[in-house]
Amino acid sequence: MTYDFLIVGAGLTGSVLAEQIAGRLGKKVLIIDRRDHIGGNTFDRVDEHGVRIHQYGPHLFHTNSAKVWKYLSRFTDWHFYEHRVLAEINGLRVPVPFNLTSLHALFPAHHADRIESLLKGVFGVGSQVPIFTLQERVKELAGRLSDQDFADLSEVANFIYENVFYGYTIKQWGLTPQELGPSVLGRVPIRISHDDRYFQDRYQALPAEGYEPLVASILSNPDIHVETGVDFKDAKGAISFNKLIYTGPIDAYFDYCYGELPYRSLMFEFEHYNTAFFQERTQINYPNQHAYTRITEFKHATGQDIPTTTIAREYPRKHIPGENEPYYPIPLETNHRLFRKYAARAGQLDSVVFAGRLADYKYYNMDQAVARALSVFEKKIATLR
Ligand code: FAD
Ligand code: UDP
Repeated sequence: MTYDFLIVGAGLTGSVLAEQIAGRLGKKVLIIDRRDHIGGNTFDRVDEHGVRIHQYGPHLFHTNSAKVWKYLSRFTDWHFYEHRVLAEINGLRVPVPFNLTSLHALFPAHHADRIESLLKGVFGVGSQVPIFTLQERVKELAGRLSDQDFADLSEVANFIYENVFYGYTIKQWGLTPQELGPSVLGRVPIRISHDDRYFQDRYQALPAEGYEPLVASILSNPDIHVETGVDFKDAKGAISFNKLIYTGPIDAYFDYCYGELPYRSLMFEFEHYNTAFFQERTQINYPNQHAYTRITEFKHATGQDIPTTTIAREYPRKHIPGENEPYYPIPLETNHRLFRKYAARAGQLDSVVFAGRLADYKYYNMDQAVARALSVFEKKIATLR
């Protein structure tokens, strides 16, 4: 048979597009994924010990978009969960994003009190300050603050840069924070408050039954046919379709004709323990020790009530096409320039739509991937009717 649409990639982007096309246009869709499961990087499963794990690292859903929340709520109930992360610094586990609680844990009481009032005076109570903004603002204040105040603020800015961001960023990206630039580090701003939640979004939860069941529900329309373990490059000649939606890496679609777009990959090491809990939170970061960046213990997030536990250590890796997964686009200007060359070619193809974290080469969170899919449907597909 001829499908109206072939969708490459059964992650959130491809799945939401499939649901919209089948549900709202009544068209026939074939969605394929190279991997042997649906859900893309959100994929979770119950391991051999009965623990629900996130196969590709911790996935915590959070959004301020009522539209995205309402849309996903059609397909799942929610387990409400607010993520709180600790980082091990100088032998102590302190909240990240770095906040006033972290400050008081790591600095002597009198010193921390002085720094707290300086930070509140300069930035305002409750504000959120990216590390580069903190460093730049402190430099601007040279000569306008007393020598002591300037020294104290410089000390704390340097301390946070060195102890929270530097080592973690080198491990995660193979780049210094300076080389990486402000966009990524701005995800984890310094908080001039005691709010120790990782995200401040209005809606924060995990799908009650898991991500895989959520995506299975999104794909449940009988006009959607799902095939996993099928690579587009091998199967394309054998599938009959009118329009193509491609959510894989854009450079792979064009056979790397302008060169490979760099991505960052990860290796996950899972370990099971015969104890109720391994650590005190879902996520502990290790900015300054170990080859891994963080340890995730899934049970804290899923709320699963089970006597044993499974954790995952995350080891960042260079991405090698065909050998490991392209998890993170690397947001450097040279890479964006290369992406724009591919995007210009993509723009010339009338019957192919590109969308998603890999096809758009953008560091989307899950809610942004869903929002992007809903918007691509309205702008590029609903109008085809
Ligand atoms: P993907 O999930 O990457 O799906 C694309 C799919 O295309 C893949 O399954 C791939 O196998 C398939 N594909 C590629 N090429 C081919 C081909 N040639 N043929 C067939 N199939 C192909 N977001 C949050 O909001 N909160 C979090 O806590 C969070 N944590 C994360 C942690 C990690 C370690 C990572 C890597 C991401 C995290 N994210 C998180 C981001 C989230 O995973 C993405 O926003 C979301 O999965 C993007 O969906 P997508 O469909 O665009 O991409
Ligand atoms: N980061 C850091 N130290 C931390 C947490 C984050 O240096 O303890 C930096 C690091 O560069 C990381 C980025 O901030 O890649 C974004 O962190 P986030 O937790 O948003 O990353 P993700 O969950 O997407 O991997």
